[in-house]
Amino acid sequence: MTIDTDLATLRAGFMGNVSTPGDNDYDDARSLWNGMIDLRPRLIARCESAADVAAAVRFGIDSGLELAIRGGGHSFSGASCVENGLMIDLSRMNSVAVDPVAKTAVCGPGCTLADVDAATQEHGLAVPGGTVSHTGIAGLTLGGGFGWLTNGHGLTLDNLVGADVVLADGRLVRASAEENPDLFWAIRGGGGNFGVVTSFEYRLHEVGPMVNLGMFFWDLDHGGDMLRLVREIAPSLPRSAGSLVAALNAPPAPFVPEQHHFAPGYACMIAGFGSAEEHARLVAPLRDAGPLFEFVTPMPYVALQSMIDDSAPWGINAYEKALNVPDLTDDVISVITEMVPLKNSPMSIMPMFHLNGGYCDPGEDDTAFGGRRNPMYVVNVAAVAPTPDLLELDRAWVRQCYDALIPCARDTGVYVNFMAEYEEDRVRAAYGPAKHDRLARLKAAYDPGNVFHRNINIKPA
Ligand SMILES: Cc1cc2nc3c(=O)[nH]c(=O)nc-3n(C[C@H](O)[C@H](O)[C@H](O)COP(=O)(O)OP(=O)(O)OC[C@H]3O[C@@H](n4cnc5c(N)ncnc54)[C@H](O)[C@@H]3O)c2cc1C
Repeated sequence: MTIDTDLATLRAGFMGNVSTPGDNDYDDARSLWNGMIDLRPRLIARCESAADVAAAVRFGIDSGLELAIRGGGHSFSGASCVENGLMIDLSRMNSVAVDPVAKTAVCGPGCTLADVDAATQEHGLAVPGGTVSHTGIAGLTLGGGFGWLTNGHGLTLDNLVGADVVLADGRLVRASAEENPDLFWAIRGGGGNFGVVTSFEYRLHEVGPMVNLGMFFWDLDHGGDMLRLVREIAPSLPRSAGSLVAALNAPPAPFVPEQHHFAPGYACMIAGFGSAEEHARLVAPLRDAGPLFEFVTPMPYVALQSMIDDSAPWGINAYEKALNVPDLTDDVISVITEMVPLKNSPMSIMPMFHLNGGYCDPGEDDTAFGGRRNPMYVVNVAAVAPTPDLLELDRAWVRQCYDALIPCARDTGVYVNFMAEYEEDRVRAAYGPAKHDRLARLKAAYDPGNVFHRNINIKPA
């Protein structure tokens, strides 16, 4: 079989379109969020239906092309594109159907968080997502997904009630608690290893539409005090609130006094989903600690979700490493406060996600998610830079921070969605041996040829 002759057959039954180098939309379609990735697929199948996806998967297998599956295109590693292979682009499959009575939403795999939030908020509903609204729901859900609502309602994958999946043999199957439950278990944490998800069905919660935000910022000299304060207050936050702490430079935003634009330091943000009075009580200790400046305001939930979008715009150069620490211990704080002043790019950022509350509700083996279900911080050290040269400097800084933090880590686990490069030795550690081996057996059952390997790859047992 030659690719060129059979391409005509693929195109004939295809709802979307197939792009090749030289086509007008080719460069747009192959671009990913991380500007450091520059891969040139031989073909890009821009799917519009599950049938398109199945046809593209079959075509890729029959023609021997390496496959890459692109949801929102936000993997740091560039796993969703492929040199000289077939990129299956799902970005046009971005419809959202909300059932406000059942409180569920069926979402296409090309949706961004912004697409899902916009549709669900029309009914005052939401599913936990990430903190940057242009991120794709597909990769985020299949690996975990945590953000403002995780303290209340768990990970994104904890709220998945079903999915449609195109398997490595081109069959379309349903995965849920009732149908193919082993597949349903595996895709909730096992990433894109088991097939191409063509729709995600989520359980929704009542949120907003107005919520409260409190953002407090300290300079570098006061970072240690601030992190110790966060350590005190974060565990007692009610489930009606979510928090995020980050080492970063203050943005040149209207709510930042001009003299502090680009100042390096630390921000602590608390979002409240309950009453304004409750939120005021929760942020009082931060205000009393004398920040450099603060921004406390009611805002629409969708504005909270997109508030830090500009800190990581599409096409920026990026690299990251992450690890789990049990708490902001004195050792963790001293490494962080020593390392943060050494970063080179003003855009580089170190967010610390506190996982607690609803995150801890599911049992360890209810899903394939790798992180243990007791409270912890996921510390993400991210180099983000406008130029490749500056990125190189901060790539070294990221590795230096990571090495310094390793002795403080809770275990060797890592959140798979924060792996900027595929580190084979860390994959087994990410899941733990028992979960990894169960995933490897399911991989052997669902994708024995490892057709879907451009991901945090679990090799078939
Ligand atoms: C700016 C930024 C902010 C982020 N913030 C957060 C955050 O707050 N919380 C959080 O939890 N994570 C966060 N992440 C990490 C994010 O969860 C991952 O980058 C995730 O992989 C993005 O999914 P995507 O669909 O956009 O990526 P893609 O690059 O499209 O896909 C990622 C992986 O999933 C596979 N895949 C994609 N779609 C499918 C599908 N339909 N079926 C099967 N496999 C598929 C791809 O092949 C690839 O291996 C952030 C990432 C970025 C870049």
